[in-house]
Amino acid sequence: MLGSIALDTIKTIYGEEADLIGGSATYAALSSSLFTKVNLVGIIGDDFPDKGKEILKNSCNSIKDLKIEKGKTFRWGGEYPKNGDDRETLFTDLGVFENFSPQLSSENSNPDLVFLANIHPELQLSVLNQCNSNPFVITDTMNLWIDIASESLKKVLRLTDLLLINQSEVYDLTKTKNMELSIKKIFEMGPKKVLVKYGSKGSTLYDLDGAFFSVGIVDIPKVIDPTGAGDSYGGGLVSGLAEGLTIRDSMLRGTVMASFCIEGFGIKSLYNSNIEKVNERIATLRKT
Ligand code: AMP
Repeated sequence: MLGSIALDTIKTIYGEEADLIGGSATYAALSSSLFTKVNLVGIIGDDFPDKGKEILKNSCNSIKDLKIEKGKTFRWGGEYPKNGDDRETLFTDLGVFENFSPQLSSENSNPDLVFLANIHPELQLSVLNQCNSNPFVITDTMNLWIDIASESLKKVLRLTDLLLINQSEVYDLTKTKNMELSIKKIFEMGPKKVLVKYGSKGSTLYDLDGAFFSVGIVDIPKVIDPTGAGDSYGGGLVSGLAEGLTIRDSMLRGTVMASFCIEGFGIKSLYNSNIEKVNERIATLRKT
């Protein structure tokens, strides 16, 4: 699994917290870790807290390809003016990301499955180019890369089997505001499956073979901090696919992991979840 590892500053209507351990790969790895521990590929600076390193070490199968460089960890700040699906990026400090070039160790060069969590598409491409196997590739991205690195992103999409993307990103990527048409355009770009995250309205899987189905959400009365919900969804989904679960069951797991994520600031609530609580929510979600 490749993605960002960050120190986040987050403002919601419930408060503000700085230098929280975050990043797309952190949320995804933690979310997956209750079921399948991933091999992490990423970078942190020498300012990354020991507690964070300990969490990553315990949550992953291997952190051999997690680089620790002299310099500052990637930092991101975000604000949620209302408690909903909208957010504003306050700042992005690349730090050690600026010169990052992932190098896969031999242990990680023959994967069956690769999850490219949200990060610059050139880094996603670099990891794919180092795989000697022919892995099933799941890719996540964001508006920023669609806007400033679309050529690289298109190369990644050519090699992607399953694209994880939210509704506004779909319209951005395809320059079309009609979901059916947009999905057709994305299939032409490479992915054979497209999983659209509709935030608080659930998610839908569109398959090139014509099948499509939706999964709802776990209703969380108090959404403390939505950061990482998409990445937690991705981590849960990927763990299910790695175990051989159906896409539908993997989506249920992703949905439930996202529901834990948003109940607390940063990774706190996700980190405190456990298999029993997850299974309870999956059973409830299945009934709805
Ligand atoms: P999500 O809420 O699922 O979209 O993910 C939020 C996480 O993405 C935060 O922990 C951020 O550190 C991380 N993030 C924000 N911007 C970027 C970026 N440009 N590249 C990689 N990760 C990012």
